[in-house]
Amino acid sequence: MGSLDVQGLSKRFGSHVVLDNITFSVAEGEFFVLVGPSGGGKSTVLKLICGIEMPDSGRIFLNGRDITPLPPRQRNVGMVFQDYGLYPHMNVFENIAYGLEARGMPRDEVSRRVQEAAAKLGLTPLLDRVVVDLSGGEQQRVALARALAKDADIYLFDEPLSNLDPKLRAQARRDIQMVHRAKGKPSLYVTHDQSEALAIADRIAVIAKGRLQQVGTPNDLLRHPANTFVAGFLGTPSMNLLRGRLVSAPEGFGVEVLPDFVVRLPQTWNTTLQAYSKDQVILGLPPVAFFLPGAQMSEAGVVSTVEAEVDFVEAMVSEVVVAFRLGQDLFINALLANVDETLLQPGRRLTLHFDGDRACLFDPETEQALLPA
Ligand code: ADP
Ligand code: MG
Repeated sequence: MGSLDVQGLSKRFGSHVVLDNITFSVAEGEFFVLVGPSGGGKSTVLKLICGIEMPDSGRIFLNGRDITPLPPRQRNVGMVFQDYGLYPHMNVFENIAYGLEARGMPRDEVSRRVQEAAAKLGLTPLLDRVVVDLSGGEQQRVALARALAKDADIYLFDEPLSNLDPKLRAQARRDIQMVHRAKGKPSLYVTHDQSEALAIADRIAVIAKGRLQQVGTPNDLLRHPANTFVAGFLGTPSMNLLRGRLVSAPEGFGVEVLPDFVVRLPQTWNTTLQAYSKDQVILGLPPVAFFLPGAQMSEAGVVSTVEAEVDFVEAMVSEVVVAFRLGQDLFINALLANVDETLLQPGRRLTLHFDGDRACLFDPETEQALLPA
């Protein structure tokens, strides 16, 4: 059992099924991120945990106690909302103190906690200011300070950065991680931004259309996505998903994408593919697994080669994303490191290698991943 256990939560609004049998656990001290497209049910999960909404079925346990039937104020949950949930005409001190006073904490203790939380978030000079006069970034820090001042059993964050401009976002993200570490409690953080999720999560749950798609570490999800949705949702750029035909060769299986592009697979796939009854698969090719000849390869596994035309180049910090044209309407993205950028002129044809150890396969009908031995 984790600190938070969500078991089989379902929720509908009218005939609209918003959550369908959601189960996951968050461990003590873990930073757990719920990520998925808008409308997928993320906020509803948080509302069920803090008691603003009631599930139709399923249970929620916090530190082993079933809190499903409890009203919000008996749950001891700290919540930071997207719109901060502040009282606009109260000052900063009163906003941070609000939850504490409502619980009947002595005034001295309230004051001490407010001062301490405000100091940690650089709000000491603003304690007397009315919230409505503060900038978005300052309001965001007030909402965090309120969470920090409280001793909750879990902290929930619902897209707390989405109203901030990009520069403030990086600082706010560090502030949130500071609050998380200071508390040593589980945090459940919601975002629609997969790159944010990958950057900050200990573990991630991907949710879409009310269903949990996969739970795992960022590395698990990037390397072994459970289905084509997760594969296509995560990563910048995301995994290339191409239809192909399974072919067998003496040394193992391959997937023919085009007559002159057969992706060779390591022998770890043999058992799975011998038992596979179809000849079509969806092939997942991570952009990071492509490289140009001469580039250093990590474990020199099974390498495939294809001629491809540079279509579009986008510089990243120390890498480039290159869209290559393989055929008439067939493109792939490659994320190339340490590459001579003068080679990457649009229209130029290059030889591209792919590291077969990084290939993923999906059943084209169920869209679920096939697993190697
Ligand atoms: P997310 O946070 O992932 O964007 P939400 O949990 O807010 O998704 O919403 C999931 C779905 O439930 C959406 O289609 C939304 O319109 C619907 N929904 C949420 N709350 C209500 C409500 N109180 N009444 C009716 N529909 C709702
Ligand atoms: Mg939401």
